[in-house]
Amino acid sequence: MARKNIAIAGGGFFGLYLAEQMALKGCHVTVYEKSPQLMSRASYVNQARVHNGYHYPRSILTALRSRLSFPRFVEEFSDCIDDEFSKYYLVAGSLSKVTGEQFRRFCQRIGAECEDAPASVKRLVNPAMIDSVFTTREYAFDAHKLRDIILKRLDAAGVSIVTDAVVEKVRKYGEGLEVFTTISGQQESSYVDHLFNCTYSRINYLLNSSEIELIPLRHEMTEMCLVDVPDEFKKMGLTLMCGPFFSVMPFPSAQLHSFSHVRYTPHYQWSDSATQPYEDAHLKYDHNHRQSAWGHMIRDAQRYVPGLSECQYQRSIWEVKTILPRSDSDDSRPILFRANHGLKGLHCVMGGKIDNIYDALQEIERVIELSE
Ligand SMILES: Cc1cc2nc3c(=O)[nH]c(=O)nc-3n(C[C@H](O)[C@H](O)[C@H](O)COP(=O)(O)OP(=O)(O)OC[C@H]3O[C@@H](n4cnc5c(N)ncnc54)[C@H](O)[C@@H]3O)c2cc1C
Repeated sequence: MARKNIAIAGGGFFGLYLAEQMALKGCHVTVYEKSPQLMSRASYVNQARVHNGYHYPRSILTALRSRLSFPRFVEEFSDCIDDEFSKYYLVAGSLSKVTGEQFRRFCQRIGAECEDAPASVKRLVNPAMIDSVFTTREYAFDAHKLRDIILKRLDAAGVSIVTDAVVEKVRKYGEGLEVFTTISGQQESSYVDHLFNCTYSRINYLLNSSEIELIPLRHEMTEMCLVDVPDEFKKMGLTLMCGPFFSVMPFPSAQLHSFSHVRYTPHYQWSDSATQPYEDAHLKYDHNHRQSAWGHMIRDAQRYVPGLSECQYQRSIWEVKTILPRSDSDDSRPILFRANHGLKGLHCVMGGKIDNIYDALQEIERVIELSE
């Protein structure tokens, strides 16, 4: 059988990882990335948490999938993993959707380490506001190192990468597809067997311009603050579960901590649906009026952990966060995988977290024949 020709729209972690895997199966793969740099969008602007299940007490399936992919990701990308900090999960006394006891039992159910935190850590929290503090095991990843690792692998696998290249449209051409691109301002077209749409917040851009039915997706304009934490928090990550709370985690690529808040990190939201005119997420991002909510985040967080009031705000990073509409109710993070969506050979792939890549790969291998 002839070597398959594959185009991938989107040079984030998902597009790049899948490109390598397909090249290793003998396919001829080209990645098109709109930005001048790879992995500069959601794959960089995120909380850098390697999920280990703790975050999902309301979605046991997501928690269990995270438990499986955590050791795999940590091993495969060990050079980008920061495991040199202690991770504590806190449970609030009120407004929380779980109690401390429920969180402990949930961790037992998914087999995740969860011990009573030492007194030296408990003394950092406001006992009037916090019900329990647990020592857990969760890591962070350095997105720049992750990009460097994956780029070396792509080079070794012989993947072609084109930056400043927008995949504009796709249409059926014989047994395959014709893909229309704008590369450094020049319009081009090419012919492929498969096109993988890995453009995250912009999955529907390509569908809309190709007159293919949009996939229902929900978007949030998010702000993550990067802060310098006081010395006693430097080797620590804290997540207050499970409700309108906050999380402060090492952000290794900037050597700072990221600070996010369930209530203030999303500034506004909108949805893509088949019944409304499409709005381009990147255009919204470019025109977003960026007024930081840092003041609100820290005023709330210091009520629970008073020492955080000494955090020095450095800057904010912004990104459109895209989730499946059903994730709203249970906070789950399943993958989106639509094979042959609207056209034979056009596949849409999106993961709600970095380690979802393994679930995505598994689904692709199950459904699409790519080997020579
Ligand atoms: C605020 C926030 C916090 C998060 N926290 C975490 C976390 O702690 N842990 C975790 O695991 N996950 C987290 N996530 C989720 C994680 O970031 C995403 O699941 C992951 O980065 C998605 O990777 P991707 O490659 O699909 O997207 P991206 O990295 O966004 O890549 C998509 C690429 O497609 C390009 N593109 C768009 N349109 C086109 C086009 N037409 N042609 C060519 N290229 C195009 C874009 O420029 C972009 O580079 C978070 C996300 C956000 C936004």
